[in-house]
Amino acid sequence: MTPLARRLRDRIQADGPVTVADFMATALGDPEHGYYMHRDPLGRAGDFTTAPEIGQVFGEMIGLWAAAAWQAMGAPDPVRLVELGPGRGTLMADALRAARALPAFADAVRVHLVETSPALRASQKAALAAHDPTWHGTFAELPEGPAIILANEFFDALPVHQYERHGADWRERLVGLAEGGEALCFVTGPVVDPGAIAAIPAPSGAVLESCPAGRALAGDIGARIARAGGVALIVDYGPDRRAPGESLQAVRDHAARGPLAEPGEADLTAHVDFQTLAGAARAAGAGVQGPVPQGAWLRRIGIETRAGVLLRKANARQAKDILAALHRLTAPDQMGALFKTMAITAPDLPPLAGFEPDAETDAETAPETVQNADPRPA
Ligand code: SAH
Repeated sequence: MTPLARRLRDRIQADGPVTVADFMATALGDPEHGYYMHRDPLGRAGDFTTAPEIGQVFGEMIGLWAAAAWQAMGAPDPVRLVELGPGRGTLMADALRAARALPAFADAVRVHLVETSPALRASQKAALAAHDPTWHGTFAELPEGPAIILANEFFDALPVHQYERHGADWRERLVGLAEGGEALCFVTGPVVDPGAIAAIPAPSGAVLESCPAGRALAGDIGARIARAGGVALIVDYGPDRRAPGESLQAVRDHAARGPLAEPGEADLTAHVDFQTLAGAARAAGAGVQGPVPQGAWLRRIGIETRAGVLLRKANARQAKDILAALHRLTAPDQMGALFKTMAITAPDLPPLAGFEPDAETDAETAPETVQNADPRPA
């Protein structure tokens, strides 16, 4: 049993089962034993690999996109370049290097990072020392003003509730204790009001997830941007339309684990419900562009051209890495289709790069399903 599993067991013995969201928030964010608090989980030696860790071209494309978005915003100076959950700081470092192509943008940028993990703050400090970033514990702490906000694989770490369909009812799924009172297990909780969980049609036996923390944050981002100007770019995995299914999953050492097996020692994520995030941002007065599949979006903003430039300066081994990264980031069976990009914008902004209407990807497609398979390549 992990220290956090013991603590959860004691809490459940005393007070009864907890929600899945409560379990997830504790497993990831407990100040003492939470997964993100004391480790760097990223990369080959860690538990999972994210797009910026696959190759520099990902962060560079986002930096160029941000520079173009800044121009579309009317080139405010200063502008806050904000990242939510910056991991090792790799995306921000690559983005800022590419942004030097537009010196006026690079000069206007003030870097702000929203990060709870002391371990990852230390990595970010090392990667971004030259840019003198300011750290914040929550989005609400950011100072006012026009902002370009980036969030890659951030929303998938926000806690989800799970609901089970039993006949005509929806019941919350909870985390309780198995017979014997030791091991954590899922138990079925009380009936909930379908309106309160924004239930959608689903057969008996189905599971539905909802992420009130993500919805609230998208609303806060939308309100801020509608008020002070700016854009937010959300990149994450999940279906473009809300769908039933369970996606809560644990990953450790690049392999799937039972979601309740190792709280505090394994990463926990859930698919992001882009439709609900978009609705919350719009309700707060902002515009929304996308979601667009990551592969199509990266191609539209010129990733192949950029990779071509890198290839010209590369030796044989580097060339192999660049082509492998391009494939992992864009191929539909890698990160190109399940991952999406979506922008929350000031209401008057025109379509931003990569979000122009496009016949190929905007065609009606069958709704995607939600499932707990790890979308991240090993
Ligand atoms: N964006 C990075 C890291 C993704 S991992 C990349 O793509 O490589 C998720 C990141 O979000 C980590 O930096 C983690 O510490 C941070 N994080 C998770 N939950 C958070 C929360 N509630 N508030 C702030 N940061 C959080």
